Amino acid sequence: MYDLIIIGMGISGITASIYAKRAGMKVLLLEGSAPGGTINKISTIENYPGYASIAGPDFAYNLFEEVNKLQIEYKLEKVTDVILEETTKLVKTTSNVYEAKYLLIASGRHPKMLGLKNEEKFLGRGISTCALCDGALYKNSDVAVIGGGSSALSEALYLANIVNKVYLIHRREEFRGEDTLIKEVKETKNIELILNNEVTELKIEDDTLKGIVLKDGKEINVKGIFIYVGFLPNTAFLERTDLKMEDGYIVVDKYHETNIKGVYASGDVTKKEIYQIVNAASEGAEAVVYMTNK
Ligand code: NAP
Repeated sequence: MYDLIIIGMGISGITASIYAKRAGMKVLLLEGSAPGGTINKISTIENYPGYASIAGPDFAYNLFEEVNKLQIEYKLEKVTDVILEETTKLVKTTSNVYEAKYLLIASGRHPKMLGLKNEEKFLGRGISTCALCDGALYKNSDVAVIGGGSSALSEALYLANIVNKVYLIHRREEFRGEDTLIKEVKETKNIELILNNEVTELKIEDDTLKGIVLKDGKEINVKGIFIYVGFLPNTAFLERTDLKMEDGYIVVDKYHETNIKGVYASGDVTKKEIYQIVNAASEGAEAVVYMTNK
């Protein structure tokens, strides 16, 4: 029996585990993918205090090192189901069942896709949601980045240093990302903006991705397509629970507690206004402080 099980080893879950360990709790971290979560896929982080600029995977590595240094128990097992009772929270993974007094859900989000025909088929074969992972495959080629938020802008900037040309395609006139990123994108010579337009079709020849077709009928030849059109919360394992959700995200109160007593949630899986690394970390810390002071 653990005091606290944390689902997710992104920055929110890891921060929570550090606070729990320091509070003397018996804590278990569970992660179905790579420790560090979404941070692993970010090329450069330039807005986290203490790091003027750091590569996402380096940041993730530092987090994981801290888990090991503090001897926080973790298991790399995917959570498949949870049973949330008043006194105990049961967490089932692909290989085990664990029990705890408190549960913190910090399972984050995964990239949203465009829903185009053949999109899934060409994921990893021309379509990517991670410029950092796949950018080098397109050295000196032309690529398209789809989206108008901070992710699309920052990853277009990253790709512009590697590829020949980036077409940044956004469905509106105005970007919704950070002003500093918009300015930088506009000043980068090998980024061409295509605004008020959408990708309607993938151009495929001989089972190879050759480019895209836009809403206005224009065809653009690119070797790679990077999709940054937002995220969807990772909540599939919560399907059988009565947790309160809004737009698929977990609803929490100001203590980061859900509608079920003893079940907390923090970071990108929760319904909130601001999705930043820095507040994902603080929410993880706050959740533990509140649960230990109740
Ligand atoms: P986002 O802010 O939700 O932006 C998604 C973009 O994709 C929007 O421009 C949206 O267009 C567009 N879009 C959505 N569905 C589309 C579709 N079907 N077809 C075409 N375009 C579509 O997502 P994000 O950029 O990944 O950012 C997520 C969160 O992380 C945000 O809160 C952001 O501030 C944060 N973030 C911060 C930084 C940073 O601080 N440097 C970096 C990355 C991310 P519309 O504008 O028309 O809706």
